[in-house]
Amino acid sequence: MSPSTRREFLQTSAAVGASAWALASQARALRGGRKQPNVVLLMLDALRPDYTQAYGEARPTSPWMRSFADQAAVFDRCWSSSTWTAPACASLFSGLYPPEHGIVEGFMANSRRKERQEDKGVADRAPTGQKINTFAPDMVLLPQYLREFGYRCFGIATNPNIGPQIGFDRGFEEFQVRPEGTANEVTEWIESWREPLTQGDQPYFLYLHYMDVHKPYNQRAPWYQPSSGGESDPGETRSEAEEAAEAYRSELRFMDEHLAALEKSWGWDKDTLVIVVSDHGEEFGEHGGIGHSFQMHAELNRILLMARGPGVQAGRIATPVGIHDLLPTLLDHLQLAPPVETSGKSLAPLLTGVASEGLEERLLYAHRRKSKFRPLDIWGVNHKRWRMILNEEGQLSMFDIEADPLEQSPVAVQDQPEIHEKLGVALRRFAEAGISDRAVLREVEQSEAERAMLERLGYADGEEEGGE
Ligand SMILES: [Zn+2]
Repeated sequence: MSPSTRREFLQTSAAVGASAWALASQARALRGGRKQPNVVLLMLDALRPDYTQAYGEARPTSPWMRSFADQAAVFDRCWSSSTWTAPACASLFSGLYPPEHGIVEGFMANSRRKERQEDKGVADRAPTGQKINTFAPDMVLLPQYLREFGYRCFGIATNPNIGPQIGFDRGFEEFQVRPEGTANEVTEWIESWREPLTQGDQPYFLYLHYMDVHKPYNQRAPWYQPSSGGESDPGETRSEAEEAAEAYRSELRFMDEHLAALEKSWGWDKDTLVIVVSDHGEEFGEHGGIGHSFQMHAELNRILLMARGPGVQAGRIATPVGIHDLLPTLLDHLQLAPPVETSGKSLAPLLTGVASEGLEERLLYAHRRKSKFRPLDIWGVNHKRWRMILNEEGQLSMFDIEADPLEQSPVAVQDQPEIHEKLGVALRRFAEAGISDRAVLREVEQSEAERAMLERLGYADGEEEGGE
């Protein structure tokens, strides 16, 4: 399926072509010297919404998020476009689904393929170096738009996938990749940006990507509570998943404390547009794993999304939305020109408390690839209370997330034949359209130290990026 047919299929309202850039310049001229609000985007990698107090957690995991939610538009049903970092963040930056932007494999995919070819004695056919898929040159990313409209764009990522290799630094005036950095370190590192960002007349866009709740989970004092179990009290012994969840909660509280301090230190008040979002969730044994391995269930696909700032009405929003909606939403809410292309929709009417036609009826898609000799793909679609997954073996399963939020029992076809038919047909069509070859495969350098770091984060065995 060609990109244009795919867009038609997705029924987007994208304004494609150079005319959008002309529109953008016009809009900028019309706005004259009026200062736009500063925009801060906090990307909390692997944060599962239901572990936060903003989304109903009763334990004190995230007091700052709870108070932030009271002043914010909170999307109760936001879906990622994938279940791991690079494709999901690429959707945020581009406004496109993973099969459209083509960023579907990570650093380790090619080296895993190479190793397997060597194992099988076919090393001569193996790639000679490390390759990674990179944003197509003609794809316009969020910071590029904002820069075009006069924003100074600075960003920092503590996940090595979110860096120049894939092209995530595009449009930023300054972008740092600091693998494995913690929330307190991010605060320290961006201090040198305070002066350039806060002096002068230009508004700023700040992208801060946190990895604190990503594996490996540290046991953060004083919040981590050791199990009281043991020989004397075996009833209290935690399972491996419960132990991981306890450490995860302590990491969340640690990050939450530092976000609160950061907000205060930088003075982000009602005049700053602050977006809090995650790229995917995390599993603690719901479907047999810990982390975010190769699957598409709700605990991985569902994400957190909250926005607070000028023009945003506080409240809970039940309308299902997607991570790829953020680009058109931001441009619309800031009254800038629409994006050159997107499969997302502007949620600006929802942010301002106005009901928006058509958003309720949408089908929101997701994809994840497993990099083996040949690629294996899992597909997902979200529609109202229904979710459907098409697994790598071509089997469909449907879930009702209101009745069964942890997706323990698929809905039988005979119980919901119409919705099953509708989602099944749509999902198979989406899958059959395949992956765009628009992303450019590019050779990258990788040192032994970098490879060791990727192994620590769970990439080498493909846990995070969809390998074996
Ligand atoms: Zn991630």
